[in-house]
Amino acid sequence: MGTRLSKARRIVVKVGSALLVDMARGELRSDWLKALGEDIAELKAGGSDVIIVSSGAIALGRRILKLPKGVLKLPESQAAAASGQIVLAQAWQQVLSDVGITTGQVLLTLTDTEVRRRYLNARSTLFTLMKHGAVPLINENDTVATTEIRYGDNDRLAARVCSMVSGDCLVLLSDVAGLYTKPPEKSGAEFISEVEKITPDIEAMAGISATDVGSGGMITKIEAAKIALGAGANMVIAAGEGLNPLKSIMTGGKCTWFKASSSPMISRKRWIAGTLEPSGIVRIDDGAVKALKRGTSLLPAGVIEVSGDFRRGDAVSVQNGAEGEVARGLIAYDKSDAVRIAGKKSKEIEEQLGYRGRDELIHRDDLVLMGN
Ligand code: GLU
Repeated sequence: MGTRLSKARRIVVKVGSALLVDMARGELRSDWLKALGEDIAELKAGGSDVIIVSSGAIALGRRILKLPKGVLKLPESQAAAASGQIVLAQAWQQVLSDVGITTGQVLLTLTDTEVRRRYLNARSTLFTLMKHGAVPLINENDTVATTEIRYGDNDRLAARVCSMVSGDCLVLLSDVAGLYTKPPEKSGAEFISEVEKITPDIEAMAGISATDVGSGGMITKIEAAKIALGAGANMVIAAGEGLNPLKSIMTGGKCTWFKASSSPMISRKRWIAGTLEPSGIVRIDDGAVKALKRGTSLLPAGVIEVSGDFRRGDAVSVQNGAEGEVARGLIAYDKSDAVRIAGKKSKEIEEQLGYRGRDELIHRDDLVLMGN
């Protein structure tokens, strides 16, 4: 099962506060982090894209600002996050550059993953970082996220990120080894090493084995599993305290795998084709129909007419006089801009709009052919 990790094409690794920060001293566990950097380098060398979702900003910052022990008030934890995040990012930057990896920090809020246009922006920034070989380093933007608009836990944030980047494996490293049939300290508790489906039984097990450590616990991990599996990614939970925790997963160490039944691409296309209500129609010529059937993106040149009311990122129906609905996809332009570039060559886009937009009206990753 360890090969599930080494064979994954795009891996999101969530690292919990309790692993990164020695809670008694409020300091980073540098040797541990260094070893994790080596694991990440090994995955990258094997051809996988890696994205890190790292907690620890508040745990570090509260010591830097000498805040009192116990539960922090919201402004205090926001201030702690502000101070801690710099130290956290610096530590990751150092550890990754030591193994020849560039990183880039992306701080996200709930709206960045929930509002489609913001989601598309964040997604393309992450793709661009990865295209240039960098490992994105992500945390919640705790300094601006107030209670109502917060994830509050990085398990679900990491799952959303995994779905956003079409990742095929989500790794949750924390101080929990995985899922047990009942709390591990109880007699008769059995470890579950593989979950095929999140059933009510599995949820009940998670409920009774929830821990109070961090803001995670098993309940948010199961929530994360639902998001990851729904997006076609496998998820694995492993205790990460020991050195080289990713290597340990790859070599058969103790962990719980949650298996996805489809792939990220299939899940995404199913979502586009079936779940989203098209808010516009793009009529295309016969040449464009042939091109789409060959698997290309939809360029503005093949468009005859655009109608409906849509914003960038909305779902539209792609139609042709003879064939009816040929495809559905997420359009890369607002309606007013799409109208202006319809029928134009990609190199004319800038002249038409006054800015350099994307070449494609609908990128092939965002396009699903209908009826075949
Ligand atoms: N974003 C928080 C931090 O960096 C951590 C949230 C969590 O532990 O899940 O401190």
